[in-house]
Amino acid sequence: MAKDTYEEAIEGLRKLLSENDGLKAAAAAKVKQLTAELGGAAENKAFNPDERIRTGFHHFKKEKYEKDPALFGALAKSQSPKFLVFACSDSRVCPSHILNFQPGEAFMVRNIANMVPPYDLTKYSGMGAAIEYAVVHLKVENILVIGHSCCGGIKGLMSIPDDGTIQSDFIEDWVKICKTAKAKVQAENKNLDFTEQCTQLEKEAVNVSLANLLSYPFVAEAAAKKTLALKGGHYDFVKGSFELWNLDFNVSPSISF
Ligand SMILES: [Zn+2]
Repeated sequence: MAKDTYEEAIEGLRKLLSENDGLKAAAAAKVKQLTAELGGAAENKAFNPDERIRTGFHHFKKEKYEKDPALFGALAKSQSPKFLVFACSDSRVCPSHILNFQPGEAFMVRNIANMVPPYDLTKYSGMGAAIEYAVVHLKVENILVIGHSCCGGIKGLMSIPDDGTIQSDFIEDWVKICKTAKAKVQAENKNLDFTEQCTQLEKEAVNVSLANLLSYPFVAEAAAKKTLALKGGHYDFVKGSFELWNLDFNVSPSISF
C-alpha cells in the first residue's frame, strides 16, 4: 500500500473512531496495525544499502585509515597477524568488535557455529586452505576458536533427531562436524533442559574444533614445537562476558566486560 493510501486509511479510521463508540476497539486495533505497517514501509524506504556501505567506508577512512598512516603503510607491504581466529558468522559476534582486533592483528575464518572440520583432502578445502596459509605461511602464534551464546548453528546441531533425518541442504551436514560434542553433552547433562544443554554444547564444540585442529600435520607440528598455542573462548552476549581457556582445557577465570 502506498504511503498516502495508508495515511488516508488511518485518518478514516480515526474519524470513525471518534463518531462511533461501538467500533472503538476494532478501529483502534486497525489504526495500530496500519501505523506499524506504515512505519515499516518508511523504514524500508529509508534504508539504502549502497549509502550505508559508502558512509561506513568513509567513517573508517577518516577515523582509522587516515589517522594511522604508519600502520596502514606497513600493512600495505605485508601482514604478520599473531592470531588465526575462528568465529561464528552470527552478526553479533564479530571478533574485531568484541576483542578490538585492529587491521593486521587477526587472520579470520567465520562460518556457521565457528567449527573447524578435521583434516580431509577430499572436502572442506576452504577451511584447510585458510589454516594452512595462516600456520605455514603467516606463521601465526595463536589459534583462537570462539563460541558464543544463543548460537543458532549449535541449536541446529542439538535439534537433529536421533535417526539423523536432516532438513537443510548444507547447515545440518556442516554442524555435524561437532556431533561427538553433542553426544558428550547429552550423556553428561541429562538433568539440564534444552537451552542449558545448548550452552554446554557451545563450549564443548569449541573443544572438538581444537582437537580437530591437531589433525592438520602443520598445526600438530607447530603446537609440538610450542610455536603455536591453541585457545578456546566463549563470548556470552547476554551477560557481556568472555571466557578463555587453553588446549589443556584449564579454564581461566572469566573475563567480564
Ligand atoms: Zn553462532
